[in-house]
Formats: sequence, structure tokens, C-alpha cells
Amino acid sequence: MPSFKCKDIGLKCAFEATAKTQDELMKKISTHAASAHNMKTVPPETMTKIKKAIKP
Ligand SMILES: [Zn+2]
Repeated sequence: MPSFKCKDIGLKCAFEATAKTQDELMKKISTHAASAHNMKTVPPETMTKIKKAIKP
């Protein structure tokens, strides 16, 4: 099950997410990024970091 932690991309944040698929996980991360990190759209650079930080 893919998982992601905000601290893995250097954010001081305790957010962790897991989902059945990477697509579903990306949706959870986007929602969190918008509400907690004020990122209405995730910058491509950050998106690259997120994808690298996702553990399969
Ligand atoms: Zn976060």
C-alpha cells in the first residue's frame, strides 16, 4: 500500500497518508497540501519530491 509523509519532503508537518493506489494517495496529498500548506496547485518541483517520497 503506497504511503507518504510530509516530513519526508522536508515539511514540518505530521501528516501521513496511505491509500490503496498511488492515484488515490495523490488525491489525499493534494487535498492536504491545499488545506494545510496553502498550495491550491502543487508546484511541479514539489510534485517530483512527493513522487520520490512515496513508499510503495
Ligand atoms: Zn503536510
